[in-house]
Amino acid sequence: MLEFEYDPDQKIDWLQTAPFLGVHVAAVIGLFAIPPTRELVAWAVVFYLVRMWSIIVGYHRYFSHRSFKTSRVFQFIMAFIGVSCVQKGPLWWAAHHRHHHRHSDQEPDIHSPTLRGFFWSHMGWIMCKKYHATEHHKIRDFMKYPELRWLDRHYIAVPVALGALLWWLAGFEVFVWAGLISTVVLWHGTFTINSLAHVFGKRRFKTKDTSRNNLFLSLVTLGEGWHNNHHYYPGSARQGFYWWEIDIGYYSLRLLALFGIVWDINEVPQRILDKGRTLDQKVSGNQGPAESTPSAAAEATSSAAKSAPAAESETESSLAAGG
Ligand SMILES: [Zn+2]
Ligand SMILES: [Zn+2]
Repeated sequence: MLEFEYDPDQKIDWLQTAPFLGVHVAAVIGLFAIPPTRELVAWAVVFYLVRMWSIIVGYHRYFSHRSFKTSRVFQFIMAFIGVSCVQKGPLWWAAHHRHHHRHSDQEPDIHSPTLRGFFWSHMGWIMCKKYHATEHHKIRDFMKYPELRWLDRHYIAVPVALGALLWWLAGFEVFVWAGLISTVVLWHGTFTINSLAHVFGKRRFKTKDTSRNNLFLSLVTLGEGWHNNHHYYPGSARQGFYWWEIDIGYYSLRLLALFGIVWDINEVPQRILDKGRTLDQKVSGNQGPAESTPSAAAEATSSAAKSAPAAESETESSLAAGG
């Protein structure tokens, strides 16, 4: 039995976790039982990309950070596709993510790899009963939408219905590749940001956490691997701060803005971009890692401390205004 000594409440809920593990087993069996064809792999890749997009742009940059604005219809579309990722509902996801930013790598952080190890930060915490409930007080700004509350409460209904539809319309083999295998890869792709993006990569900014920038993770997650940038300035819809930091999620938002589907996209302020370049130049000039430069570090830390609560307080003020 997996138990975590630091908190007796943090035990794996095996009953709730069984379907999660069952999908893993089924996906591995499917991988060997149904050989990949070009068509099956294409199905899986498309299902992966569309759903990863809904998690990083919808669940993360929109519901968690409100880094752009959109219509109620498109908000629902993002939530609906997001629920098909089987990572629970948008309110649950965003509330836990806001908690992560508030306490990153400090004792209250639920999924810190530096405090609690790789397995726990990657997937252990999701399997734990203690964190099954949605913390409504952290996501009051979106609680007023009944359609979001419904999705959050019945988060399993959508993926089950879509899975059945996929099996019925496209056949069992497509269901295995686009439904099961794609979902397992999608899960672990997403989870890497909680685990690996706090362990492997470069730290441009000295934030109060252990977040890192990692190109490989950015490619896997369509732009979320610039996690140190993101922790430094979480209010921005853009996580790859410079042209060479590939951020497909951000490019998609610019494209959607051209059609008027999203608007008021929060950008990275010029002073932050300038500071990042200065820190990069110091590193390339062999003046030691950016984070060890005392003046830059002190300023970066104070700025991070300001920017994280700023994202929260924006949320809270809009709640107060009922907007
Ligand atoms: Zn993080
Ligand atoms: Zn975030």
